[in-house]
Amino acid sequence: MRKLRIFENKRFSDLTTFRIGGRIKYYTEVENKDQICEAVSLAKKKKLEIFVLGGGSDILVSDKDFSGIAIKYVGTTISYLGDGKIKAEAGAIWDDLVNFSVEKNLQGLECMSGIPGTVGASPIQNIGAYGQELKNSFFSLIAFDINSEKFVEFDKSDCEFAYRESFFKKKENWQKYMISDVTFQLKTDAKPQVSYDSLKNYLKERKINDPTLLEVRKAVLRIRAGKFENPKDVGNAGSFFQNPVVDAKKIQDLRKNYSDIPCFDNGDGTYKCFAGWFIENSGWKGKVYKGAGVSPRHALILINPESKAKADDVYELSEKIINDVDKKFGVKLKREVQLINF
Ligand code: NAP
Repeated sequence: MRKLRIFENKRFSDLTTFRIGGRIKYYTEVENKDQICEAVSLAKKKKLEIFVLGGGSDILVSDKDFSGIAIKYVGTTISYLGDGKIKAEAGAIWDDLVNFSVEKNLQGLECMSGIPGTVGASPIQNIGAYGQELKNSFFSLIAFDINSEKFVEFDKSDCEFAYRESFFKKKENWQKYMISDVTFQLKTDAKPQVSYDSLKNYLKERKINDPTLLEVRKAVLRIRAGKFENPKDVGNAGSFFQNPVVDAKKIQDLRKNYSDIPCFDNGDGTYKCFAGWFIENSGWKGKVYKGAGVSPRHALILINPESKAKADDVYELSEKIINDVDKKFGVKLKREVQLINF
């Protein structure tokens, strides 16, 4: 077995897509279950706080030094188990998994093409795009319980999935588990899912009436490339805010002043509004604040345009946006991005 290598000169800014974050006292990469046990037991012996790192694509880390150990799982094997089941190690790139599923003609992940990050991070916030959510194709996962130092299997109900939420994102469970692999149950003979107008229109414009899984995957990748910020080009952590859900009374009040406000009826008396719409209509789209900014392409995304932003610049900007949206619309935006070491 490869010996565990511990690094002492890493920074979160090298390991997050925001390219922000302070020094890490110890950093290690583990590639199998034995190494997870070894790294956790070492951390406990040295009384180090553990931070489990995935693709670093959904976090904003402060510039303070982190005096614990950051552990990243880097095993990347993806295998087909038959009957529509795919098992992927936590370190696999999410989009490699989507590509693998489409190549095998399995349906369920195609709309989530191009989401940055790793497979291990995907259940934590129940990632989703264009009407597909991880929870609909999830089967089970294996996680190392850091407290009991045992591997535990979670099925779908154990994960308590909700809109960009799960058991693992809850305060009491946050950073208590290290996911090692995830199994998905996909459909073997289903047509791709095309439910969002933006995707439907893109395909219609290109006269693709009965798209294959690959055509939907390609369409999503194209739309994303045109609209979202690519972390390879500019530091960001995807959607910075969650889409707010409001009740019927609130939507009626908003419609009195903003008759064109877009929203979706959840069918349970609540309505999903769009954080990006509120941000844009508060005048923040494309604005710069200190080293940080709001993407000129998609107001939901905060950016680190010249890789010079401090974590506080982004945090203060997000506070300003939350306050302005609240003042103008009476809607309190919630961050989707997790704040680390603040
Ligand atoms: P869009 O298709 O222009 O629609 C805007 C918003 O409307 C989306 O946020 C989506 O909410 C909602 N929506 C659209 N059609 C819907 C339907 N049929 N039923 C329920 N809700 C509907 O979306 P967009 O802003 O270009 O984003 C497309 C997808 O990418 C969305 O799913 C979004 O969550 C995701 N996204 C990803 C990133 C990122 O990773 N960087 C950034 C922004 C958006 P939902 O968010 O609930 O899907």
